[in-house]
Amino acid sequence: MPLDQTLRDRLADIVGAAACISDAAAMAPYLHEERGLYHGKAALVLRPGSTAEVAKIVQLCAAARIPIVPQGGNTGLCGGAAVHEDASEVILNLGRMNKVRAIDPLNFTITVDAGCILSDVQDAADERGCLFPLSLAAEGSCQIGGNLATNAGGINVLRYGNARDLVLGLEVVLPDGRIWNGLRALGKDNTGYALRHLFVGAEGTLGIITAAVLKLFPRPTETATALCALDKLEDAGKLLNRARALSGDAVTAFELIPRIGLEMCVKHIAGASDPFGAPHPWYVLTEFSTSRPDVPVRASFEALLERSFEEGLIADAVVAESGEQEKSLWKLRESLPEAQKYEGGSIKHDVSVPVSRVADFITQGTAAIAQHFPGARPVPFGHLGDGNIHFNISQPVGADKAAYLAKWEEMNRVVHDIVARMDGSFSAEHGIGMLKVNEMKHYKDPVELDLMRKLKRAIDPANLMNPGKVVD
Ligand SMILES: Cc1cc2nc3c(=O)[nH]c(=O)nc-3n(C[C@H](O)[C@H](O)[C@H](O)COP(=O)(O)OP(=O)(O)OC[C@H]3O[C@@H](n4cnc5c(N)ncnc54)[C@H](O)[C@@H]3O)c2cc1C
Repeated sequence: MPLDQTLRDRLADIVGAAACISDAAAMAPYLHEERGLYHGKAALVLRPGSTAEVAKIVQLCAAARIPIVPQGGNTGLCGGAAVHEDASEVILNLGRMNKVRAIDPLNFTITVDAGCILSDVQDAADERGCLFPLSLAAEGSCQIGGNLATNAGGINVLRYGNARDLVLGLEVVLPDGRIWNGLRALGKDNTGYALRHLFVGAEGTLGIITAAVLKLFPRPTETATALCALDKLEDAGKLLNRARALSGDAVTAFELIPRIGLEMCVKHIAGASDPFGAPHPWYVLTEFSTSRPDVPVRASFEALLERSFEEGLIADAVVAESGEQEKSLWKLRESLPEAQKYEGGSIKHDVSVPVSRVADFITQGTAAIAQHFPGARPVPFGHLGDGNIHFNISQPVGADKAAYLAKWEEMNRVVHDIVARMDGSFSAEHGIGMLKVNEMKHYKDPVELDLMRKLKRAIDPANLMNPGKVVD
């Protein structure tokens, strides 16, 4: 049904005129899509200020059969928060719901509104001497509701798990407008189905997350960071294994950077430089941390690097001597996607395989790209410690960007087939959104897909919650 003036007025009455946006210029930021792949139109953007307002909006839209697209910080990389082109959908942006509701340091939990910016949640935990470990390059703008809806990963998954592992309770507005208050702060609760896990990773297709209880951890008292240069990709897995075993599992991050990626950063990113005197084919950025004052993490870190160097597992290493150096090493890793943009089109694959098969995957993937797409330049980087590689392929030097990007699906098929043969995942941490609905149909086990569709129909029978995303 079209959104008529009466309904617009009623929706505006719920949120207030300033939070009901229909002006094209004011709407533009909410229609922006991170990768520039989708250019939809919305009927309206609504910015509710409370869970009660969200519930009223959903009830009204459900009665009028108006589809809703929940939106957080709009940093998602699969078009999950993007609208379609027919201007039939309302964007429900959670940005005004940004309060920390409670912190319980004794219980190691924090209860937050879904619209809290991730870095604000980290800061609130830090102020009380705790750590909220979810961390990703978009943390200054993505929201906790979006992080949960996409089951975000990031750089600390190896030690603390992904968003799903960090949530104890949720408050959700269901597609019929009822509020489910599941804001329990319990470490143990075996009372039937763990419903919160349905909404985590559902990308807004089953309901709108309005608040969450999140796990906190003791704040690390010491960290040690190094960039290690490797001659062989296979050595990265061996180094990780050794680091985990010898450090008492103090490894918090273990990120892969290829030579070509480092070169792109040095060329395009202001202030980025190669910390080594000679080039090396691979690099690993690793971080150890501990909250135990009696365990000198830096000493064991340096001992590990020394031993690995003597045995030829690493060719060279730079250990950060200050917070500033730590930041500049991380800048090399975090600037990689931006640096790639200067090299023209890039076809993305956010894949995972067992950690023990990462080197094999990158070798096979690189060979397949060379065979099928001569001149295309693989830049495999990312969360090696989780088996999650961003196997992003830059266009051949001097190629036409649009013609190259037109090969997106063809290239996806080549790469994802290799991933499937290794029992991996074609979407490790970014989700499905609109971008990977076809890959979902192609690769997902039919029984699993059938169960997902049945769940969607049971919870959202009118298909009004983020339609066309995740499952069709
Ligand atoms: C520079 C950069 C680096 C990134 N690095 C990582 C990374 O390391 N790891 C990683 O996992 N991701 C990464 N991402 C992707 C992105 O930041 C994450 O997916 C993030 O979790 C999305 O949060 P958001 O608030 O921006 O959500 P949005 O983009 O607004 O929405 C994402 C999806 O969640 C749904 N949604 C949003 N809020 C809610 C809600 N309250 N209730 C229900 N559904 C909702 C939307 O409908 C949509 O389907 C990166 C993105 C950028 C731009």
